[in-house]
Amino acid sequence: MPQAKLLKELDYSVLQQCMHCGMCLPTCPTYVETKLERNSPRGRISLMRAIADDELEVTRAFSDEMYYCLGCLACQTACPAGVNYAELFETARAEVELAEVNDGMQRGFWRWLSLNVIFMHPWLLRLVGRVLRLYQSTKLDVLMRKLRFFGLMPKSLAALEPQTPRIAEKFSHELILPVESPPGKPKHRVALLTGCVQDLAFSNINRDTADVLLANGCEVITLASQHCCGSLHAHNGELELARELARRQIDSLDLDSLDAIITNAGGCGSHLKGYGHLLHGDPFYAARARVWDTKVKDVHEWLVQTGFRKPAAGAGIDEVTYHESCHLCHGQKVVSQPRQVLASIPGLKFKELPESNWCCGSAGIYNITQPEQSQKLLKRKLENLELAKAPVVATSNPGCHLQLVNGLKACGGHSCHEVTQPVTLLARAYRAEQGC
Ligand code: SF4
Ligand code: SF4
Repeated sequence: MPQAKLLKELDYSVLQQCMHCGMCLPTCPTYVETKLERNSPRGRISLMRAIADDELEVTRAFSDEMYYCLGCLACQTACPAGVNYAELFETARAEVELAEVNDGMQRGFWRWLSLNVIFMHPWLLRLVGRVLRLYQSTKLDVLMRKLRFFGLMPKSLAALEPQTPRIAEKFSHELILPVESPPGKPKHRVALLTGCVQDLAFSNINRDTADVLLANGCEVITLASQHCCGSLHAHNGELELARELARRQIDSLDLDSLDAIITNAGGCGSHLKGYGHLLHGDPFYAARARVWDTKVKDVHEWLVQTGFRKPAAGAGIDEVTYHESCHLCHGQKVVSQPRQVLASIPGLKFKELPESNWCCGSAGIYNITQPEQSQKLLKRKLENLELAKAPVVATSNPGCHLQLVNGLKACGGHSCHEVTQPVTLLARAYRAEQGC
């Protein structure tokens, strides 16, 4: 059986921090589902510690447990001892991959294709996006559904088809110039990160983000070609690839010339703010990575921090509720700012969503790897959305956005019929001031 390496190398104080109080248990979606200790944060930390102490080996069962965990970090928010679950979780998944206990041709091929090839090359990711766009715009997808083509595919692949994101007509670099300046002298100079899924499926949200930044006196630098932030790699046990992508990100920007590096995707932002730790052992990048961390801001966090201008017009809707991306609220602790942005819009009534910070089941690629549990969480979210009785839900992460869109489409007749972002509603309100 493979011996542990990475969990052993981890600072032992991180493994020791858990005092077994159990306060995280009611906040953990997988524990609440099964009531099994091993499916809880406390249970998982005990397993990790036992492996680091050579009391257990890295097995397939350990891997299954680590991949059943959503990585939602709700436990981290609940923990009075300040357990760094994010670091434990990423190290444990990397341990599993290093031990190769999950070997299997199909899994290995898809991981290699997505993590080592597509998400390492921005041009290739956009090429995949263009092919998908063509497939969707020519209605080939509709025809294939009519011909029941997907019934011929393996069940697991066929189940993914309805979840394929609708690819935007234009990507971010076709909507945003590399440098855009506000009227008058800029108050700030910021870089805008356009993301991967956000760029392919929600480039309009990137345009909205740039517009909101411009309306608040920022000069906006948006590189036409941007690397993946590496969060997908770090959360799936590929820490070396995540480090390589972090280095590429740092090299792509002149940090000294920027006041902030803006992200509008909760999952990416949470990872982007941790480059300092990810690269702490790299003599060439460690110091720059720490500077990088201080400059990364979620767009809502930045707007509130810099005293954004309240719009004078409405956003064209009356009521909204808000679903919190796990990595925005638990990972980045950005909780009140998106609500403040929504509350600033004239005529917009905010309705609090019950369990707004409970995971929607998207969790990176969890909806692909653990479809059953993902669907249970989505159902719970849709029920809560029904209780909120708002026609529009705002969220701030492309994964959550897609999960909610797919869920609302599948259930039909739901009282909520639009998924959007707080920053998009603010952009709409600013445009309404100009009569657009
Ligand atoms: S990250 Fe989420 S699913 Fe995993 S142990 Fe913590 S609360 Fe539970
Ligand atoms: S709340 Fe923190 S200290 Fe308590 S059991 Fe959970 S992880 Fe351990």
